[in-house]
Amino acid sequence: MLRLPKAVRFLNLTTVPAPAPAVFPPLPGPTPLSDLQREVLELKRKADAVILAHNYQCEDIQGVADFVGDSLGLAYKAAETRASTIVFCGVHFMAETAKIVNPGRRVLLPDLEAGCSLADSCPAERLAQVKAENPGLAVVAYINCSAAVKALADVICTSGNASRIVERIPADREILFVPDQNLGQWVSQRTGRRMRLWPGSCYAHVQFTPTALLRAKALHPGAPVVAHPECTEAVRGLADEVCSTELMVAWARRQVSPTLIVTTESGMIHRLRREVPDKTFVAAPTDRCSCNECRYMKMNTLAKLRDCLANGGPEITLDEGIRAAAEVPLRRMLEWSK
Ligand code: SF4
Repeated sequence: MLRLPKAVRFLNLTTVPAPAPAVFPPLPGPTPLSDLQREVLELKRKADAVILAHNYQCEDIQGVADFVGDSLGLAYKAAETRASTIVFCGVHFMAETAKIVNPGRRVLLPDLEAGCSLADSCPAERLAQVKAENPGLAVVAYINCSAAVKALADVICTSGNASRIVERIPADREILFVPDQNLGQWVSQRTGRRMRLWPGSCYAHVQFTPTALLRAKALHPGAPVVAHPECTEAVRGLADEVCSTELMVAWARRQVSPTLIVTTESGMIHRLRREVPDKTFVAAPTDRCSCNECRYMKMNTLAKLRDCLANGGPEITLDEGIRAAAEVPLRRMLEWSK
């Protein structure tokens, strides 16, 4: 039997107050660069690199990035630059996506261990087995999956275009949506299309609960709520808007309310504060924490970014067969999104 420490055994968890949500008022002005940030920029120049930072990266990394955005947008931003090296500050599948669309460039990831619970929930071997047993299935893969899974998909989607992509699949094809069941369920509800859902989820987004969100709403009455579709249905149902991180920026600009509640990984708030500077942002809490950080995203640090630029590694490498096969459904998504 598991023996808990004495202090924990006698703690009545029902009396522990839920944490108040973290509040981010408008920034007073641009944040000056630190010595380490300046060092990173100098190394970037010497390495002929472009730094891409996902919306969920920490503030000091976003502060030195050439582009901050979602994984697909960043991969294509990299293709527009002349830099010979791409440093992707995000998680492993994102750096792989950058490599898929930029095969001739060196792609670095500050911490090779920065994985993703969602991508891990769908191993390529299991998907290959399901496909072999169900040859008629059309596989729609959310971009949050490994290159090997992308290579098995008919088409890729993002949280921003998932409904449009699903609507393009002929009505007589059965769809298997991988790997996020919450996003898949949301798309199914919006499109009316029944789909098989892979039982994967983002460990960070499912930590948001109706109780914690209702508490944030009570503390900030009248503040509109935006939620990412990776949240559970119960949480999405409490939101005024459900959309991808990219669309959250435009949504925030449109709001009249000076205060907005953001239900996604709290790194997103750094970008929102820079791009929508007149608002106060409230990070939706979980039952245990006043904001919600993805432990994988936060494995990248500014110091690791500096070391990565200085050492030219760790580098992302892909089997060319897998890379080329994964590029096909990615290109199909772009075609279908036009
Ligand atoms: S936030 Fe969720 S989906 Fe994104 S990297 Fe972290 S675990 Fe994966």
